[in-house]
Amino acid sequence: MSNNQYDAIVIGAGFAGVSAARDLADKGARVLLLEARDRLGGRTESETITLGDHTFIAERGGQWIDLEYSPAIEPDLERYSVELASSPHPENYHSSYAGIRHSGPELCSAETIGDVKRACRHVVDTAGERLAFGVPLDAQDVSDLDVSWTDYLQTLDTSDHARAFLSTYSSWFSGSFPDQVSALHCLYLLNGADVDTISQGMEYETKFAKGTGHFLESMAADIKKSGTVKLSTPVASVSQDDSEVRVTTDAGELFTAPTVIMAVPMASWNDIEFEPPLSAAKREGSALKQGSRGVKSHILVRNVAPNTCAIGDVRTNDGVFAVLSEEHLANGEQIMILFSLHHDDDPDRPQATFTDIEAALHTLLPDAELVDYVTRDWSTEKYSSYVDFVAYAPGFPSRAHSLIGASEGRLQFCGADLSQTFFAHIEGAVETGKTAAVNALQFIHQDALVPEGA
Ligand SMILES: Cc1cc2nc3c(=O)[nH]c(=O)nc-3n(C[C@H](O)[C@H](O)[C@H](O)COP(=O)(O)OP(=O)(O)OC[C@H]3O[C@@H](n4cnc5c(N)ncnc54)[C@H](O)[C@@H]3O)c2cc1C
Repeated sequence: MSNNQYDAIVIGAGFAGVSAARDLADKGARVLLLEARDRLGGRTESETITLGDHTFIAERGGQWIDLEYSPAIEPDLERYSVELASSPHPENYHSSYAGIRHSGPELCSAETIGDVKRACRHVVDTAGERLAFGVPLDAQDVSDLDVSWTDYLQTLDTSDHARAFLSTYSSWFSGSFPDQVSALHCLYLLNGADVDTISQGMEYETKFAKGTGHFLESMAADIKKSGTVKLSTPVASVSQDDSEVRVTTDAGELFTAPTVIMAVPMASWNDIEFEPPLSAAKREGSALKQGSRGVKSHILVRNVAPNTCAIGDVRTNDGVFAVLSEEHLANGEQIMILFSLHHDDDPDRPQATFTDIEAALHTLLPDAELVDYVTRDWSTEKYSSYVDFVAYAPGFPSRAHSLIGASEGRLQFCGADLSQTFFAHIEGAVETGKTAAVNALQFIHQDALVPEGA
């Protein structure tokens, strides 16, 4: 085997690619993991930052996991003795839905909660009756639900307030405006949800105490036992024939293997040259740029009660949908996380200055005082092709959900964008990475069995 020949090549070192490469290395495969950025993690990044005098690990992208729904991640939490931590459990709520503001120990007022719960019940029941979990959306008879979340919510016999309440699930689950994401995306992820829980906002507690980056580095150490990790190595082209796959980097280096795992975001596929070209469904899935335009800011604030959770619908709150307590400091200040979306009516409108962040904070917490901030706009990132986590476009998933994840010749595809369980989540990335590794092993073993010269 030459130096540039491997048993398998994995392209992309987010949670999907790292999981896939680690599983292959566990089986003794000589695996090469190629990553464009100068770090692991992709759409997760834990970074040590300082706000005011306070230094802490900030998750700039994906952060929380739900242990009840983490079957793929769970074994690794144990294997690497990953320490978990909790974000503060909310006790003080502020909400702003369709112009109705409320503050108190519950997210909605006594006058509005009945409507909200009825609407949530209806949505959860519809999801349960119509959608089978773990089955791709194009294998289910649900094309009538493949309309925008806004259009779906219009069909509900409920108040504007309850509709605005439910509209925020497009922001939580896809970082998108409700008219830009398929109702199937939201319904699928609400399937089986507890109505009392979702009518009180989202669950967002469990996180990695030492950061997602620490966890990924532990996995990468195991990859290096029989494989190689190359950072800052963007891939330019991938070509395959009956005998092998050839991967060429931007710098012109050539690597070969019997199989390749594509673990880059769906939106990035069209930035790579494939020979033969990818299937029409994959090219369309990539061209649609199905991803959120989310901005995640860490802010240091004064004059906010501890354990605060402020939520609103993005349409009436200028693109802002959540401001959440993250850490209380001894001096009474606190670190909060502010989530907002790119202004779709004016995508070039800046939102990174102190004044912008202060205005965003005041949409949901008018009395809060901003002290310091850092912000991360994921729609500026080249290696997720200027979109962020997946947001299935109306009309797409009922036609192509299984096709985007299907293998093509010697290429396997994985990533949170393709999952048929927890798409848009770290869990979905890990789950698809593991499946891709199993499929790749078949190629490695199959080719190993071919007698020399055959
Ligand atoms: C702001 C934000 C908040 C989120 N919050 C949560 C959360 O709380 N919980 C949760 O579960 N999920 C959350 N997510 C979603 C979650 O982070 C992602 O869905 C998941 O991390 C994606 O993992 P992945 O491995 O599929 O893709 P990625 O992490 O995007 O990995 C793909 C990798 O491919 C690399 N790449 C791209 N092009 C090339 C190329 N040409 N050559 C080589 N490498 C290339 C990229 O650099 C990247 O490292 C959030 C995401 C964001 C952005």
